[in-house]
Amino acid sequence: MATSYKIAVFEGDGIGPEIMAPTLRCLTYLAADKYALNYMSLPAGAAHYERTGDALPDTSIEAARASDAILLSAMGLPRVRYTDGTEITPQIDIRLKLDLFAGVRPVRVTEGQPTPLKLGGREIDFVLIRESTEGLFHTQGCGEVTDDYARETLQITRKTSEDVFRFSFDLAQQRKAAGRGQARVTCVDKANVFRAFAFFREIFDGIAQGYPDIASDHAYVDAMALWMVEKPWAFDVMVTENMFGDILSDLGAGLMGGLGLAPSADIGHDNAVFQPCHGSAPDIAGQGVANPFAMILSGAMMLDWLGLRTGNADMVADGVRLDNAVRKVIAKGDALTRDLGGTAGTEAAAEAVLDAL
Ligand code: NAD
Repeated sequence: MATSYKIAVFEGDGIGPEIMAPTLRCLTYLAADKYALNYMSLPAGAAHYERTGDALPDTSIEAARASDAILLSAMGLPRVRYTDGTEITPQIDIRLKLDLFAGVRPVRVTEGQPTPLKLGGREIDFVLIRESTEGLFHTQGCGEVTDDYARETLQITRKTSEDVFRFSFDLAQQRKAAGRGQARVTCVDKANVFRAFAFFREIFDGIAQGYPDIASDHAYVDAMALWMVEKPWAFDVMVTENMFGDILSDLGAGLMGGLGLAPSADIGHDNAVFQPCHGSAPDIAGQGVANPFAMILSGAMMLDWLGLRTGNADMVADGVRLDNAVRKVIAKGDALTRDLGGTAGTEAAAEAVLDAL
């Protein structure tokens, strides 16, 4: 009998359900009779909060914890806020609850893909790893604010830094084995100014010693912002602190022609969430025009991660197939949604991916 996997599904808010449905269709099509994906739809999000007063029910988080992988479209609606004025953000709370320390943001531009850069025939293929549970987000929601000053705290711990650095070097090894990348990890920090980042860098250098087959180097975050625009083809895996990663990952999305093509994963030791970088796009929800590609590419990342984790080579191959199918549709250019300059609706764009498969 085919191996069966429990996939937790957060359809979320706004365009969330519209982009999740075609993604599940693509995944089910690929699984065919090789393996079974059993989807569990779990309630959470802004609309759920409006109805029940709970943005992320314990039953949902526990079901997600017990699953093999988690798919999330997008959560949040600008009008739905806590009494302190901040938005509900269960998509961020999940990272802390499941200790998803490695935010994986692939930045890939292949032939035919729109990009604001002149690449002269070169392709971009690097992965930004954003530590996602501490750094400058440590005091998120509980920073100190008085009439005269405001203070937030940046926290770097040895344990989490070691985990995220090992994850980055392991990823560089996997990419090397798959014939991609330059077998290199770059630590992005601000060690010239802050002692916390000197500590971060020292831990990085210690972990690098355990990976003699992978080169390692360092870059200051301000220089990296410049180089990502000037020579984005020169990088393989880069790893950085939470806030720096937050900012650089949007720069990476910009290189890929916008948020509509930017997938992501948030990975810990026991769980992983796969979701597009964009939000719930309430301005276009319900119109059938949302771009499903970032969600579908996140589904491809899930197949790759789950396949490698469970030794399922079919699943890993299907991840590559799905990623290639989306890239083929983008390069062909006749089934693009409005955000990519086309006129196709969500369904037509997703059908084109299924045809390409
Ligand atoms: P957004 O990413 O939802 O939208 C920004 C712009 O991009 C909008 O014009 C939108 O129409 C467009 N857009 C986004 N995704 C698109 C897609 N797939 N296809 C076509 N166009 C797309 O960001 P926002 O407007 O700042 O936030 C809206 C809500 O989403 C907020 O409540 C915010 O908190 C939430 N949010 C959630 C996540 C997440 O769940 N990971 C991430 C960011 C924002």
